[in-house]
Amino acid sequence: MSGRDLYERALAVAQRAYAPYSKYSVGAAVRTNDGNVFEGVNVENAAYPLGVCAEKSALVRAVAEGYGPGQIEAIAITASPCGGCRQWLHEFGIAEVTFPDTGGALLTRSVEQLLPESWDLPE
Ligand SMILES: [Zn+2]
Repeated sequence: MSGRDLYERALAVAQRAYAPYSKYSVGAAVRTNDGNVFEGVNVENAAYPLGVCAEKSALVRAVAEGYGPGQIEAIAITASPCGGCRQWLHEFGIAEVTFPDTGGALLTRSVEQLLPESWDLPE
């Protein structure tokens, strides 16, 4: 499944987002290195800071199915990932991150490009 195909999955699932406050529905789809795909959507809350981004919910689904860092090779998101999610993408070592630029053209970037000189917990 290509980055564009994964993006189409993200676009389709965005319709199931729970975004009654912002009205900004976001979808995400992750592809594991054995070919499985897990989708996620943003889920808002009346206490605004408690909302969850689409890429986080997709990653949570993948983890619940047994996948972890190094086992997720790509993600597509219907919006540019926020700063906090870029740290999540770094945590999972995702090689390909696909999302639209402000003009709607699809970009594919490495997590290193999105979060240079990133942080890891010292061992
Ligand atoms: Zn985010």
